[in-house]
Amino acid sequence: MEISKSTGDASLEVGLMAGAVPETTSASTRPESVRWGHLTATFFVLLLFSWLGIVLSRQSDGVATIWFTNGLLFALIVTRPKKTWLPYFVAGFLADVLADVVYGDPLKLAVGVSVANSVEVITSAILLTRWFGNPLQLTKRIPLLGFLGVAVVGATAVTSALGASWTMLFVNAGPWWMLFRTWYLGDVLGMAIIAPLVFILQRPGFFSMLHREQLPKTLLFLMIPAAATALVFSHSKDPLIFFIFPALLLVVFRLGFPGTVLSVFVIALISICFTVTGHGPLMLITGANLLHKIVIEQIFVAVALFTFFPVAALLEERKALETSLQKSELRYRELANADSLTGLANRRAFDERLEQAWDRAMRHEQSLALLLVDVDLFKAYNDLYGHVGGDDCLRCIAKVIASALQDKAEMAARFGGEEFAVILPNTTMESAVHIAEDVRQAVAAMKMPHSGNQLGIQTISIGVAAGVPDRNAALISLLTASDHALYRAKYLGRNRVESTMAVMASDGMSTADSTA
Ligand code: GH3
Ligand code: MG
Ligand code: MG
Repeated sequence: MEISKSTGDASLEVGLMAGAVPETTSASTRPESVRWGHLTATFFVLLLFSWLGIVLSRQSDGVATIWFTNGLLFALIVTRPKKTWLPYFVAGFLADVLADVVYGDPLKLAVGVSVANSVEVITSAILLTRWFGNPLQLTKRIPLLGFLGVAVVGATAVTSALGASWTMLFVNAGPWWMLFRTWYLGDVLGMAIIAPLVFILQRPGFFSMLHREQLPKTLLFLMIPAAATALVFSHSKDPLIFFIFPALLLVVFRLGFPGTVLSVFVIALISICFTVTGHGPLMLITGANLLHKIVIEQIFVAVALFTFFPVAALLEERKALETSLQKSELRYRELANADSLTGLANRRAFDERLEQAWDRAMRHEQSLALLLVDVDLFKAYNDLYGHVGGDDCLRCIAKVIASALQDKAEMAARFGGEEFAVILPNTTMESAVHIAEDVRQAVAAMKMPHSGNQLGIQTISIGVAAGVPDRNAALISLLTASDHALYRAKYLGRNRVESTMAVMASDGMSTADSTA
C-alpha cells in the first residue's frame, strides 16, 4: 500500500532544518511584513521534505514512520507575526500538494491530505499562540505541556482521522484504524521532534554548545546515546533497547534541553533507519509484519521524548530558578551592606571589613590606617538649607570620599549620621594623612555654600589613625585613636586633618598626636 506523502514520513530533515530555520524565525526579530525570500525558501524546503518523506516511506511499505513537514511549518510560523501566517499556510499547502502529485497521487487525494495536514498546523498555531503567546517556550513546563497536549497529541489526531478517511476513498490501504494509527504516530513524532528542534536552534544556548571550548564535550555526550542506539539497533539477537535510556539521561543532565532534543532526534533517525531496513531488537517480535514493527519503533521514540523532554525542561527551569535566586541573593547582600542615602558601605559592612583588615594587617605586620570624617557644623546646615539639602550635601561628600579610594581592599563607609570612615589597609600614617588632606581639600573645592560656616562653604574635619596591630591589642584602639584625632580637629577650629599614631601594643594603646 502506497499511502505516500499524505500518510507522511520523511526522515532526514534536520541537516536541512539547520540551514532553513536560522535567525529568520527568531521571535526577537519578528518582521511585520512577509519576507518573500524567506517564504520562497520555506516553500522549497517544505516541498523537498515532503517529497523526501514520500520517497523514504517506500522503504517501509508506504508507511511514514515519522512525518516532519507539519512540525516544521508549525514551528516556522508560530514565531512570526500572525499577519504573515496566511502566505506560509498557502506555501505549505501547495508544497504538500505538489509533492504528492509529483509522486503520482491523484490530485483529489493530494488536495485532501494536504488540507488534513494544514488543519494540524493551523489549529496548533492558533490555539497555542492564543494560550501561551510564544508556544515554543518549551523549557517552561506549562507551554511544554500545552505543546505536547495540543500540537503533538490533539491536532495530529484530528489530522490523522481526516487524512485516513480521505485516503480510504482513493487507496485500498487496509482497515481505517490501522491507517489512522500509523499516520497518527508518524505525525506525533514529527511534530514532537521538529518543533523543539526549531526552538532550540533559535536559542543562544544552543550555539554556545557548539563554541570551540564546549564542542568536544557536546560531541562526546551526543555520541554516547547515538553509539548506544547504533549498537543496540545494529544487533538483532538480543532486545537491548533499555541501554539507550541511561545514555540519554546522561545527556539530559549534561547538555540540558537542547542536547536532549538533538539526542532524541539522532536516536530516532538511527533507530528508524535500522528498523525499516529490517535490523535491530524489534525484529525479535515474532509473527509481526514490518508495519507492526514500525509502530513499536514509533512508540519507542515517543516514549523517549515524552519522558525526557519534560525532565530536561524541568531541569532547565530549576537551573533558571537557581540563577535568579543567586542573583537576588547577591542583590540582597549588596543592599544589606549598603547605605541607602549615599550608596557607600553601611556601618555593618564597615565593622566586618575593619575586622578583616585588622586580622590581615596583624598577620602581615602591616600598617592599617583609618580616617574618621565628620561634616562641620552640619546641624546648622540642616537648619539653614533643610534636611533635603542636608541629604544632598551628604551625598556629594560621600562621592568625594569614595573617589579617594584607589584599591579594592580600601573601603569608604557611612559611619553614622554625618560621619564617614575610610579603611586604608597597608597604608602608613604619612600616606593616610596625605589622602585625608586631599579629601578635605576636594570637599572645600566644591564650594557648597554654608552661611553658618565662617568660611561661607561646607567643610569637613578628619581624624586619622594608623599603626601596626599587635596580637594582644583590641581593634577598638584604632577607632578610639581616630576619634581622638577628629575631636582635636574640631577643637582646633574644624576644616582640618589631625592624626593620632595608634600604638597597638600588648599592653593596650598609647597615642602620639600630631597635626597635619
Ligand atoms: P560639628 O562641626 O561639631 O560636627 O557640628 P555638627 O552640627 O555637624 O554636629 P552635630 O553632631 O551636633 O550635628 C550633626 C547633625 O547631622 C545632626 C543631625 O540632624 C544631622 N544628620 C545626621 N544624619 C543626617 C542625615 O541623614 N541627613 C541630614 N540631612 N542630616 C543628618
Ligand atoms: Mg558628628
Ligand atoms: Mg558634624
